[in-house]
Amino acid sequence: MELRVALGLALLCSALEAAPAGPQRPRSAVGQFWHVSDLHLDPTYHITPDRTKVCSSSKGVNASNPGPFGDFLCDSPYQLILSAFAFMNDSKEQVSFMIWTGDSPPHVPIKELSTKLVISIIGNLSSTIRNFFPDLQVFPALGNHDYWPQDQLPVTTSEVYNAVADFWKPWLSDEAISTFRKGGFYTQLFESSNSHQPLRIISLNTNLYYSPNKVTVNITDPANQFAWLEEILETSSQKQEKVYIIGHVPVGYLPYARNTTAIREYYNERLVKIFRKYSSVIAGQFFGHTHRDSIMVLLDEEEKPVNSLFVAPAVTPVKSVLQTESNNPGVRLYQYDLFDYSLLDLWQFYLDLRDANKKNESNWKLEYILTKTYGIEDLKPESLYEMVKQLSMPHSTLFEQYYSNYIVSYNKTILCEEGCKTCQICAIQYLDSSSYTDCINQEAMWR
Ligand SMILES: [Zn+2]
Ligand SMILES: [Zn+2]
Repeated sequence: MELRVALGLALLCSALEAAPAGPQRPRSAVGQFWHVSDLHLDPTYHITPDRTKVCSSSKGVNASNPGPFGDFLCDSPYQLILSAFAFMNDSKEQVSFMIWTGDSPPHVPIKELSTKLVISIIGNLSSTIRNFFPDLQVFPALGNHDYWPQDQLPVTTSEVYNAVADFWKPWLSDEAISTFRKGGFYTQLFESSNSHQPLRIISLNTNLYYSPNKVTVNITDPANQFAWLEEILETSSQKQEKVYIIGHVPVGYLPYARNTTAIREYYNERLVKIFRKYSSVIAGQFFGHTHRDSIMVLLDEEEKPVNSLFVAPAVTPVKSVLQTESNNPGVRLYQYDLFDYSLLDLWQFYLDLRDANKKNESNWKLEYILTKTYGIEDLKPESLYEMVKQLSMPHSTLFEQYYSNYIVSYNKTILCEEGCKTCQICAIQYLDSSSYTDCINQEAMWR
């Protein structure tokens, strides 16, 4: 769905040494975690003279310039996925955990997949991650492609939820596994020896709210996830816990389309309301699905920034033949304050796909460091809101940088102006229908 509608520096030293989070902050106060999303493995990918046959995900179209690490008209060859995890492993970054926000199977016609195939691909990638990081805590979330037929994730237990629960057992508690089997979502505490309080991860199944999901049409609270979420957040608030929300399909408006939420509007309004109510508990939100790199700042009713949200770019470089833009493969590292789990920075890494294919070498490298690129202190809501004010200025060169990062340095000559910029700027800061509509109506201000 996301495809149809849408469209360095070398890493020389470790993040901890190179990027102290603040002038007086002791080194030990910073924790790190990886975020990977939208791996979309295409098992059929192979190099062959007939370019229509390179990958099923090109759907009969000629692959554009296929190489060992992939093609912009194909989903990920296994070698690309291996290169991403090998890079993360070789970087020797000290991380406490990894979040993985879904979408493992390829974009191919429904009849080319099956429940069995979808399950085997998710199983394959779960083992791949475990083989690279046998001791690392991973918090996964399901994507709209992690089901067959795609997008139709059910509100009760299913063969897929059960099979995936078995794959994810090594990472999750019995309680988390039990809620996951029923609705594809869970919560789990992350205990770390160097933090004074645990962090609560809430992995939402936002695919239940995804517009193409026919199963949930006319259901006010699919799988009772809203009621469950409110209950968890209420308890967290009483216990003064901090929470990271992870999920696949993001809340809010799509940055590349006008007036379009990723999830159904009714569900979006409801989620925004819950996130506003519990914004003091939620220290960060992390999504995937659009395949692009974007941020959102949740404002309360008084336009005060209260939450920071991040959409990580995909590992797959795929685009449809009609799209002008794609993304280079990306993975990212977040830095957070070990004391209160507030977000300090993010390091976006990427593979220049054309270059990697040409050299037959997967030279993953740093694309940008968020605080350095945008001149802000950290990733807290107030700081991100400052950044948004800069981006929304007419002719902002910082916005050009933001857009280049949005497509993961796919093509520096592609500009986003006028209507394109309006959609981006409004989607970044207005997540509910009324404030978003006001923003779009003031379009002239952002040009
Ligand atoms: Zn995806
Ligand atoms: Zn998706």
